[in-house]
Amino acid sequence: MKKIDYSKWYGSKLCPFCVKKLKENDLGIREAEVSVYRGTSKVKVSYCKECGTDIVIFPSPARVVFGSIATAILMSGLFGLMFLGAEDTSTFAITGAASAMIIGTLGIIGILIYTRNKGKDVIKQIESTN
Ligand SMILES: [Zn+2]
Repeated sequence: MKKIDYSKWYGSKLCPFCVKKLKENDLGIREAEVSVYRGTSKVKVSYCKECGTDIVIFPSPARVVFGSIATAILMSGLFGLMFLGAEDTSTFAITGAASAMIIGTLGIIGILIYTRNKGKDVIKQIESTN
């Protein structure tokens, strides 16, 4: 099996369904609603014009690491604010908030790693057909 140079794929937009790298004019933009704290928010999502599947952007390892660190810092900040604003500082409430924070952080890091692995799979398939 030949070795794949993933570095040239960093930041590539991939369609997991068509198994190809997408150019700007292959992309469509749609609005999606995501649920955020106490409501929903609209985000722009890129999709493949050909099949309508949401694209996967292949992140570099540095991006995954920085993304994870940024998430952890953001979550700690949120936890700090929650803690300062909390009237109920019982051990139970703090444990609950800390667990929610850790689960949230791990969840986001998990999504980052999942996206990267998914991208890697698509790249493997593209490279093997070349
Ligand atoms: Zn597609």
